[in-house]
Amino acid sequence: MLNLSTELARRQRENLYRHRRTLDSTTGTRALINGQEHLAFCSNDYLGLANHPAVVAAMQQGASRWGVGSGASHLVSGHSSAHHALEEELADFLGRPRTLLFSTGYMANLGTIAALCKRGDSLFEDRLNHASLLDAARLCQARMQRYAHNSVTALATRLAASTSDTRLVVSDAVFSMDGDLAALPQLAQCASQHDAWLMVDDAHGLGVLGRQGRGTLDHYGLDHDQCPILMGTLGKAFGTFGAFVAGSETLIEYLIQHARTYIYTTALPPAVAEATRTSLKLLQAEEWRRQKLQTLIKRFRQGATQLGLTLMDSTTPIQPLLIGNSAKAVAMSEALLQQDILIGAIRPPTVPDGTARLRITFSANHTEQQIDQLLNALEAVA
Ligand SMILES: *Cc1c(COP(=O)(O)O)cnc(C)c1O
Repeated sequence: MLNLSTELARRQRENLYRHRRTLDSTTGTRALINGQEHLAFCSNDYLGLANHPAVVAAMQQGASRWGVGSGASHLVSGHSSAHHALEEELADFLGRPRTLLFSTGYMANLGTIAALCKRGDSLFEDRLNHASLLDAARLCQARMQRYAHNSVTALATRLAASTSDTRLVVSDAVFSMDGDLAALPQLAQCASQHDAWLMVDDAHGLGVLGRQGRGTLDHYGLDHDQCPILMGTLGKAFGTFGAFVAGSETLIEYLIQHARTYIYTTALPPAVAEATRTSLKLLQAEEWRRQKLQTLIKRFRQGATQLGLTLMDSTTPIQPLLIGNSAKAVAMSEALLQQDILIGAIRPPTVPDGTARLRITFSANHTEQQIDQLLNALEAVA
C-alpha cells in the first residue's frame, strides 16, 4: 500500500515539496501576500489583459446576460451564441476553417490526442513537451516515442522506423519551462515526408508572436497544410480561461463526435467567452503590448548577462534562470520574496532532474524600472 506520509516526507527531504501561496489581491504584475505587496514575475498573463477594464466589463456584462455557469456540456444545452461567435472569431484570426472551444488546455490536449490516436498508433513527442501532452499519450495507449529536445534528426529516425498506420507528431511551439521555440518548419517538413500529422500546442506563442499575435506558426509563416492541428489556450496571453483547437472542418466535426474531454464536461461560462472576444480584439489591435515585451526582454537579458547569470536560449517572455540544484532554487525564490519579488522555483518532475530554475516571466504591464528592480534583487541574492 502506498504510504502517503512517507512519500510526502521524501518530497520534503528532496526539496521538491510544493506550497501554495495565497494571494489577497493581484494585478498580474503585483501580488498582495500576508499584507505585503510583491512585484510578481511569474504570471502567464503576458499581454496584461487579465485585469484590462474592457475585458473585465465584458465578463460582467456577459454574466448579466448569460448568468454565471453554462449549465451543461456543449452537446446538451451549454453551447451559446457567445461560444459560437468566439469560435468563429478565433478561426478568422488564425485563418483556419474552424475552431472548437475546450474548457481547459489540459482537456483540449487529452481529448484531441486521444480522439486521433488509439492503441497500435504511434505518437512522437518532444522530450520537453507539456505534461498534458505526455499524459494524453498514456490515456490513448498509443505507442509513445519521446525524441530529444528539438531534434528533428531523432524524430526522422523514429518516424522512418515506424510501421503504424496513424502517426502523430506533437510539440509545444514555445516550450513552457524554457521559453525557446520548436523548430516548426523542420518538424513540419519531417512530418509531411513521413506521412504523419503534426499537432502544435501554442499556449505560449499566441498573442505574443506573429503578425497581430497570431502565434508561432504565423511567426514562421507556416500554413494550415503544414500544421493541420493547432491548439491554443486562453488562460495565458488572452488573460481569460479555456482553450481551443483549430483545424479543418472535418477535424473539428470529428472532435465534436469523439473528443471525450469535449463531450463529457461542462462548457466554459459564456461570460468567459464574451471576455475572451474582447481580449481577442485588444490583442490584435494593441501592437504596443508585443513591442513592450520585446523591450523588457532585451533589457533583462542584457542586465542578467552583465551579472553573469545563466540565461536560457529564449526570445520570448519566458526567461528562466537555470539554477540546477532544487534546494538552491528554493532558497533563491525565498530570498527574492524577502525583497518583495515573487518568482516561483520550478523543480523536477516539472523539469528534468538537476535543472531546477527560477521561471521569470514578463508582462506588457511591467515597466523598465521594474526590470531594473528585478536585476538588483537578483544581484543581491545570487
Ligand atoms: C498551460 C499549458 C497547457 C494547459 O492549458 P490550461 O488551459 O492551463 O489547462 C497546455 N499546454 C501548454 C504548453 C501549456 O503551457
